[in-house]
Amino acid sequence: MHIDLTIERWNPKYRNAFFELNRAWIEADYPLEEIDINVLSDPEIHILSDGGSILSAIAGEEVVGVVALRAVGAHEFELTKMAVDVPWRGRGVGKQLLRAALDEARALGAHRVILYSNTQTSGPAVALYRKMGFQEIPLEAGKYKRADIKMERTLNTIPIRKTAKSRLPETDLSKLTFGTIVSDHMLVADYKNGAWQPPEITPYENLSLPPSTMALHYGQIVWEGMKAFRLKDGGVSIFRIGRHAQRINRSLVRMAMPTMPDGYFENCVRALVALDRDWVPGSPGSALYIRPLVFATDAMYGVKISDTYRFVIFTGPVPPFYANPLKVKVEEKFIRAAHGGTGAAKCAGNYGGALYPAKLAREAGFDQIIWTDLSPELNIEESGTMNVMFVIDGKVVTPGLSDTTLDGITRDSILALAPELGYTAEQRPVSAFELVEAHKRGVLQEAFGAGTAAVTIPFELIQVKEHALKLAPVQPDFFSVRVRELLNEIRTGQRPDTHHWNTVL
Ligand SMILES: *Cc1c(COP(=O)(O)O)cnc(C)c1O
Repeated sequence: MHIDLTIERWNPKYRNAFFELNRAWIEADYPLEEIDINVLSDPEIHILSDGGSILSAIAGEEVVGVVALRAVGAHEFELTKMAVDVPWRGRGVGKQLLRAALDEARALGAHRVILYSNTQTSGPAVALYRKMGFQEIPLEAGKYKRADIKMERTLNTIPIRKTAKSRLPETDLSKLTFGTIVSDHMLVADYKNGAWQPPEITPYENLSLPPSTMALHYGQIVWEGMKAFRLKDGGVSIFRIGRHAQRINRSLVRMAMPTMPDGYFENCVRALVALDRDWVPGSPGSALYIRPLVFATDAMYGVKISDTYRFVIFTGPVPPFYANPLKVKVEEKFIRAAHGGTGAAKCAGNYGGALYPAKLAREAGFDQIIWTDLSPELNIEESGTMNVMFVIDGKVVTPGLSDTTLDGITRDSILALAPELGYTAEQRPVSAFELVEAHKRGVLQEAFGAGTAAVTIPFELIQVKEHALKLAPVQPDFFSVRVRELLNEIRTGQRPDTHHWNTVL
């Protein structure tokens, strides 16, 4: 729902609307306090004289919503006195005002916008703030009597060197192949002198590295794989950015690399995707793939922990991942990850070591490997570069996390959504022999891989030693199909984002 509003800066003729809309908003739940009366009746003194701004949303001649930005520190503004007239609520006015307020904050030089709200009485507004990239931070006591939540939104202050000529006009977003097309820009930041330096955005271009660059020899390299989606209303949303930020920091720790400060990763990803937002494809199942990467840059061929690193992010539009159901083989000779090893980190080395066994499996007629711990029980860990899940006797079952499994964000999302589709989900050891037994009893209903690239890919055959377990052909009512559809609907705004997974730009 997008209605035609004009957003205007302060004009004294809006004073009455500013007062009345806020009074009605506050008085619906609380007595008006002295601070409200002062700010509302003298906004020139309490907001504008300090460099703040007030915006009004106008429909026709009528003021239907208001919001103020109050300077509270260097490059910091408080978003306050936001109110929408009752008949206009639920029609996207708040969203448009909030977008305009964030643009205004940027124009005023803000690096950060904070706000206070109340989750009980302003639930929909708080949900909107989350959607628009605000995150909860600790609330100081007694600042506002009626606030039970404080949120912040950092704003992009990253310098941009734009490409002279966009490649987008000659790119057909309806004819994509996975992993080949890159968007116009990339982000680069260096770690040196013990700190992550300010990032910058440049055209997508080659890196120039000395051959002695440490990452190339000793493998201090971690990365992430995530996606941004085109929303139903035309906006762009990044999926579970906070969880990717946490995971890259865990990977960095394991590889003795420097973690990023709070908000740094999110800010970088957001800024780059916002700049190249026109590259986000809109056809069902397509997305903008986002590849953050960190590697050691000391020019030195003695083994040690590097003192310098480079963080690069680039993106590229990707099509829906349509794969035929896979034939997979439970691997009995090779291992992806050992206890105490790096299996839980998203590091380059894990991939290098997995390619050879995967090649042998392909030569033997399989599409992919199921990795186990190689114990006598052959406990299952992952499949290929995905997490692995089963539906056994009506329950969704997946191996629990350990230092030999990657904490997949798709896996986590699917576990969270299973109850909404009427399934219970279990995380527990799954032996390959349990699959043989379940198959014999006719209760191995589904098996599939789960990861960002495809969401879910069903298996049609699982080879466990001499047992070829053939699975039923995929039906539209299969869990793996329904959960993929549900997740896609959430990520593209076709369903309410009740888990707060979307960061809308
Ligand atoms: C990235 C990855 C996954 C899947 O994680 P998602 O966050 O769902 O994409 C699974 N296994 C390995 C080894 C991975 O590197």
